[in-house]
Amino acid sequence: MIDTANTASKKRGKLIVVSGPSGVGKGTVCGILKKNKDKLNLSVSVSATTRAPRDDEKEGINYFFKTEDEFRDMVDNGCFLEWATYNDHNYGTPEKPVLEKLEKGINVLLEIDVQGALKVMEKYPGGVYVFISPPSIEELRNRLVGRGSESAEEIEKRVKLAEWEMLQRDKYDYIVVNDVLEEAVKKVAQIITA
Ligand code: ADP
Ligand code: 5GP
Repeated sequence: MIDTANTASKKRGKLIVVSGPSGVGKGTVCGILKKNKDKLNLSVSVSATTRAPRDDEKEGINYFFKTEDEFRDMVDNGCFLEWATYNDHNYGTPEKPVLEKLEKGINVLLEIDVQGALKVMEKYPGGVYVFISPPSIEELRNRLVGRGSESAEEIEKRVKLAEWEMLQRDKYDYIVVNDVLEEAVKKVAQIITA
């Protein structure tokens, strides 16, 4: 287990894990935080995934897009801090850049699914865990529909998964309801700087 707490000899960065159901607004919140990364001494981790890029997504910015074989090699080579299968696609957090930044005293933010967050909680108990909650499941569905990036069938799968994900929220250090976006961003920023 790696020590993520601040020690007297060297101040490490904080590991901040933001998760919650798909469509709740994690990417939107984290995108705004990323724009303020210097003020927050923050680096946002870029995950690897086997899902196809959306129209507006860029390699190395939103994700590292991998084939199934490439992803499997990364798993076999122990490259991931955690990885999970979400709706038939694999997603993983490359470990090396995260550890290097924490060592340098930079705060690192992971935006990952609930299964991944539960794994990281065991490995890094010194991390800060934030669950972003929707105001309601209906609003979550509306946001997924509004985003327009998934089929109706895929949206229903994501909403179904949200039921289990919502049941995990008490395991987190903080629950932030993303109702008014600016307020949710402010709360997460306060958690980072606390
Ligand atoms: P996630 O990363 O959790 O899957 P996104 O950040 O992609 O979610 O947000 C899903 C959709 O909801 C997007 O269209 C986004 O613009 C919208 N959205 C995000 N936050 C809010 C909010 N507070 N109120 C209304 N819509 C929001
Ligand atoms: P999307 O396909 O909407 O980009 O992501 C689907 C889900 O996978 C989201 O909940 C997102 O936070 C999560 N996710 C993204 N990257 C990772 C990762 O590295 N690990 C895990 N476990 N989940 C991730």
